[in-house]
Amino acid sequence: MSKTRKLPKAELHVHLEGTVSPALATKLAARNGMKLPDGIFKADGNYNWNNFPEFLKSYDTASSTIATAQDFSDVTYEYLASIAREGAIYAELTLGPDVVAMFGMGYREYLDAVTDGVDRARQEFGIEARFIICMIRHMGPEKALELMHTVDKFPHPLVVGVGLAGNEAMHHPKDFAPAFRIAHEKLNLGCTAHAGEVSGPQSVWDAINHLPVTRIGHGVRSIEDPELVKTLAERDITLEVCPGSNIALSVYPDFASHPLRKLYDAGVVGSINSDDPPFFWTDLAKEYDTAHEKFGFTESELVAVTRRAVETSFADAGLKADLQRKIDEAIAA
Ligand SMILES: [Zn+2]
Repeated sequence: MSKTRKLPKAELHVHLEGTVSPALATKLAARNGMKLPDGIFKADGNYNWNNFPEFLKSYDTASSTIATAQDFSDVTYEYLASIAREGAIYAELTLGPDVVAMFGMGYREYLDAVTDGVDRARQEFGIEARFIICMIRHMGPEKALELMHTVDKFPHPLVVGVGLAGNEAMHHPKDFAPAFRIAHEKLNLGCTAHAGEVSGPQSVWDAINHLPVTRIGHGVRSIEDPELVKTLAERDITLEVCPGSNIALSVYPDFASHPLRKLYDAGVVGSINSDDPPFFWTDLAKEYDTAHEKFGFTESELVAVTRRAVETSFADAGLKADLQRKIDEAIAA
């Protein structure tokens, strides 16, 4: 059991398809008449991969077990239930409609299915969730623009933000500025982009100089440029840090070399997150435990992290106030 289990938590950086546990992938594969390839799991039942291409392969295989609206609802419900049991009160789920579309599911059907899962989890656990619609960098700026037109055409009450993920070697953030402009100026949605993970600090500069982002996905490599860290703090742009993910993907060799503490002390950590938890052999509670055990975060610092996550979330003011109240209640209890 997690040591920080009782602490209230909030997660802002988690890819819905990246939350499918081996048990759930197995169940969905059976339900959909699919056979999972040999070697996808280790002897202990966890996902098995040893390098980046193998990680992508196991991720894609697990994602391909999610086929129907019921599946998406179940994935959402299972994930939110799992983090609610460990104290989470709020999650922003990153959704990739363009990827789902390749498997034949339309935008509205996808969002309705995920909403069904959110409704079930809320009813049972009181947890709230909102959506970030993610543009995929390697699919190109045209596709991103098209996606933002779809978001515009079909407003959804749980969609509160947009993001950019995918291969950082492809295209420049400024290529996506027109798509972000629609999200930011026309739709009034929050904006975030992955940067400073695989690529260095320049990728973060490129994102904050060309896109209306108030958050950066990962952004940990900002630490390599003091001027950048200062600028992030001044402009109140926060990082969605995912330490377990960074270690699993060898962004850093170990927690001792990870900059979480330094970034926190510089005031730029907005949230601690799990990214694609079962693929990185982690979960949200484990990330809080890691912050406590490896980085010396006290309980009150971890509560402050959760409060900052709520503040920097894309939820509306009413929900933010509710969530801060829930944090007060959890601490009082
Ligand atoms: Zn991510």
